[in-house]
Formats: sequence, C-alpha cells, structure tokens
Amino acid sequence: MRFFIIVFFPFIYLFASNTPFDLYKKETNPNQHTLLIIGGIHGDEPGGYFAPAILEKYYKIKSGNLWIIPNINADSIMANSRGIYGDMNRKFSIINENDSDFITINKVKDIILDKKVDLILNLHDGHGFYRNKYENAIFNPNAWGQATIIDQEKMNGLEKFGNLDEIATKVTNTLNEDNLFQKYHSFGVKNTQTKFKDEQMQLSLTYFAVTNNKPALAIETSKNITELTYKVIYQLKSIEEFMKIMDIKFERDFDINNYKEIESRIFDFGKVKINDNITLELSDIKNNIRFVPLKKEDNKFDFTHTLARVKYNDNKYEIYIGNIKISDLYPQIFDVSSTNNKIKILVDNKEIETSFASQIDIKNDFKILKSDFRVNIIGFSKDGLDSEDNILIKKSDIQENYSIDNNKTKYRAEFYKDGKFYGMIVLNFLKENK
Ligand SMILES: [Zn+2]
Repeated sequence: MRFFIIVFFPFIYLFASNTPFDLYKKETNPNQHTLLIIGGIHGDEPGGYFAPAILEKYYKIKSGNLWIIPNINADSIMANSRGIYGDMNRKFSIINENDSDFITINKVKDIILDKKVDLILNLHDGHGFYRNKYENAIFNPNAWGQATIIDQEKMNGLEKFGNLDEIATKVTNTLNEDNLFQKYHSFGVKNTQTKFKDEQMQLSLTYFAVTNNKPALAIETSKNITELTYKVIYQLKSIEEFMKIMDIKFERDFDINNYKEIESRIFDFGKVKINDNITLELSDIKNNIRFVPLKKEDNKFDFTHTLARVKYNDNKYEIYIGNIKISDLYPQIFDVSSTNNKIKILVDNKEIETSFASQIDIKNDFKILKSDFRVNIIGFSKDGLDSEDNILIKKSDIQENYSIDNNKTKYRAEFYKDGKFYGMIVLNFLKENK
C-alpha cells in the first residue's frame, strides 16, 4: 500500500505559506497526450477535490498520461473556506511575493507550462445551475453550477485541443445523454469571454493557461446539489469524456452510475501511521481520542488518503480528509523509541507474532505473552498489576468507552520500556455473526 508522509512541525504554521501540494503522475507513454487535473483551488468546493482523489486512487491509465493535483489549496480545504489567504483563483496574473499562496502559484504555473501538458482541467463546485436563458434565481446565465467553462470559443494557431467550445460542447452533450440522476442536473457550456467581458476571470488559472497557449477549461458541479457523491460522479464523468477526446484510455473497478459503490469509496478514509509506532484506521475513528502517546514535536504522520492533512491546533492534532474533520488526537507526551522486536499474543487460543503499528483480529479472547515491555491495555484494569500481560482478556473485560472507533470494536494495547513508548497494537474484536 502506498503511504505518503507528512513530517509535522507544530510551529511552522504561524509563519509559513500554504501547505505544499502533491502532483501524482500516471504515465504510460511520453509521446501520447497528457491531461492535467487540478482540484481544490477553492476550499469549500468538495466535488472539486474528492473527484480527483477517487481518480488518483481507483483509475488505472492504460494509454496516454494523467497528472493529478487533488488538493492545491490544502489550508483552505481544511478550513472549508473559499480561500483563507484570499481567492487563489485570482492570483494568476500578478501575485505579491509575501502572499501565502506565492510558492503554490509559481509551482503550479510551472506544471501548467510543462511542455508535456496538452490540456488542463480546473475543478469547482459553483452556485446554481447554468442555463443560457434566465429561468429563475437559481437557473440562469449568471449561475456557474453544472457547466463546462471556457474563456473563449477557440485558441487560434493551436494544433491540438484549441477548439475549446467544440470540445466542451461534445463533453456536455455526452453527459446529458447519459443517466443524469435528475433531469435538472443537465450541463451547459458557459463561455465567460474573459478577454472582453470578465476582468476578474483574467486573473484566473484557466486564463493564465490559455494566454500561454495551453488549452484549459473548468468543470463546475453545482453547490445546490447537496450530495457529495453526485458531484463526484458528475466530475468524474466529465473528466472521462475529456480523456476519451484525448485518447487517454483508463480502467476502473466500479460502475460510474452506481451511487453506493462510489459513496463507499469516497468515505473510505484509509489509515494513518504515526511515528512508525501507531497505525489507526480512519473511516470509523472516534471524533476525539485522548492520551495518544506522541513526541513533543516532529511527529510524523503517514496517510494513505491523498486528501489527508493534519493541523496542530489548541494542543491537539486535528486530522482531516478534505474538508471533513475526522478526529482530534490529544497527545500525551513521551520519549518515543522504536524496535523491530515482535510481540507474541495468544489470539483465540492460537499463538501469533506481530510487530507494533499493527492491528490484530480477535473473535473471543487474547492474552499478550510476557516480554521486555510493560503492557497497558486502555480501558482494562485489574488491581495490583503493573503490566497487563499474561492475562486472558475478552471484550467484556474492557470498558467500551475506551474504544478508538464508533463501532466499539477496536481497543489499544500500548507497550513501554524504561519510561519510553515503543508502540501500539490495535485489538480488533470481530463482530459476531448472529
Ligand atoms: Zn470555485
């Protein structure tokens, strides 16, 4: 499993610029087309970043190349705000070097201008439903939602993909012919005619690209569609149409029209590994966990989810997947060490060996066998014991409110030696099949 790493320095956020973004490259052949997807430029538009996270994790590219930046504006995403340092999509014409987005903007400009990149999509959720004729306050030409946005009809003198209106129309028509979940979810092509009519959009990412001879469009799903899953599906369907136009072939292991299959993937938050001592599953983690054995600083968080970020705030580590706050981890500060030593545990009468930062499945009971380490099973207590090993324990011996998950199946066994924390093993009691 691929982990990516965030080394965490609690004090850096006081001064620093926006959290750096990641660029994922799925490449098959440098001579074929490359599509660049940019998600999350506006932090309160989750369709625009959960879709590229699904794309990154579940799509296999068979020919052509796909580059993905799932969450370019990570700090604003955690805050669920359009832009905590101002609107990032208005900084592509000029930007002050003291601006918190300065590094981000320059880095992404270089990627946009990379000669391998043939076309760029900037993903958003916009207000209302775009219609070319006024219907009411929600469905009208000034709305942005459910539209493919172009800055101009075409880019002259460009060999490939310069016919923006034609491409956008093709994508939009295909979306509308396919299964829309509701008829009113239909898409349109919105031409902002940026050069002549829209001074604000002249500062945007797509206009920067277009004026530098790089075809770029925006996909906007509607903020008025409240279900994240619908937005992600429409974003993905749009991106797939662009890939078809660019001869980028892909495979995925789910049905794009199956709401449940996509929903379960969106809400699979993966795992975090902390300092090589602790691994926690995040999908069902409780919204706060107390006394987590951590170092005073430089704690290292390795996440499996591309949208996972951690923020130190108010003496706790806040874990986010996109704009969703997953959990607050309240640290208990220890000197932390690590070891390759394994721990022997009798699980349902069978002896197993496991390393730290792992999880074991238990049907009925377990007994941690004696080792060099002092064992603390959180939520279990018996008088006169210093180390809670060599005792047969079943689920009912542990107080439920100490579970680390909402389902009350996972509990912590922690291992210490000479006052140092060495590691945690998660005890997962399998639900009985009744
Ligand atoms: Zn937006």
